[in-house]
Amino acid sequence: MKSERKTCNKCLLDDSIEGVILDSNGVCNYCNEYKPIVAYGESQLLKILQKARKKKRIYDALVPLSGGKDSTYVLYLAVKKYNLRVLTYTYDNGFMSDYAKQNIKSSIAKCKIDHIWVKHNEELIHNLYRTVLKLSGEICGVCGIGIERSMLKISESYKTPLILLGHTASEQNSFTSENIYDQDRLKAILKKDKNISNTMINRFLIYPKLNFISSYLYTKMGRFGKKVNILYYLDNPADKEIGEILKKEMDWIEPSESDYTRHFDCIAEPFTNFIREKRFGSSRRLPQLSNMIRSGEITKEEAIKIILNDREMMQKGNFDNVMKKLNLTENDIEEIGNIPKNVFGDETSLSNLIFEKVRKVVKKNKH
Ligand SMILES: [Zn+2]
Repeated sequence: MKSERKTCNKCLLDDSIEGVILDSNGVCNYCNEYKPIVAYGESQLLKILQKARKKKRIYDALVPLSGGKDSTYVLYLAVKKYNLRVLTYTYDNGFMSDYAKQNIKSSIAKCKIDHIWVKHNEELIHNLYRTVLKLSGEICGVCGIGIERSMLKISESYKTPLILLGHTASEQNSFTSENIYDQDRLKAILKKDKNISNTMINRFLIYPKLNFISSYLYTKMGRFGKKVNILYYLDNPADKEIGEILKKEMDWIEPSESDYTRHFDCIAEPFTNFIREKRFGSSRRLPQLSNMIRSGEITKEEAIKIILNDREMMQKGNFDNVMKKLNLTENDIEEIGNIPKNVFGDETSLSNLIFEKVRKVVKKNKH
């Protein structure tokens, strides 16, 4: 950690964060380069949905459902607004909150749709989390890959033409250059642990040889459904308004302390932010809130309040539950906090690196 951090005059980013540069006016490069997001337009979305309906499969779309706000809103749009025949599933990562489970139950009842639970054996998944956390200082990558693989498997099995995702712009830029969703890197980490067999790894990965290029090609060929970030096509209501819609239409409940985290569906998220703060000097909340300041969704003062509240809640005592599940000691936490940045960086799959580079170039030319 640098001793003297300078924070941007407009947002919450400071120059100790990788890739953040302040200009002579004290404004960061992200604020300077900010362009308001323009929705692709609903008519484009309608075309995609129509094409999917014409395939006349059992389901038009698969919607991954976490019980959080964004995925429940996508489900609401898909079923209630666009009348799609939807299949939904939940990947139980072992850290689901009671709120999330309740929300899933009520939204599938409200929408009268089919739902699949996916859950790896608890001991297996906890062993994977523990090893990856102790050796690389992260666990979100394991969960992210678990969600993605079961999503692809279900889409393939039920031949859903679409997979509707609920990513939002406020979640962009998590500011770690570690490729935590890279399969080769994950394998390299897990192979360091003699207690984790190849069979266990393959059970978890489902598609043990998949990379970004083959996944892209399989999607083009129709083996996996086309991934559509539905919220990017629409002018979406503000966060609060979405909450109101969901309460009314989906019997949705929101914890009163939800200021703490956008992902109250996962009880391990505050813990992962705590670890990130230890390793990188800042949690992923900082870029998320900064995105929201730039888009005008909240003021800087409101964001600071949230951060101060975060800090208070982030006292170690709040993590007993997660630490017990993963069999971690205080000493383990200290050691994890000292894991250097970009650990296992050389293990990233070459095809994934190439794919990412090409995608960046294509993206740049589009805008
Ligand atoms: Zn800024």
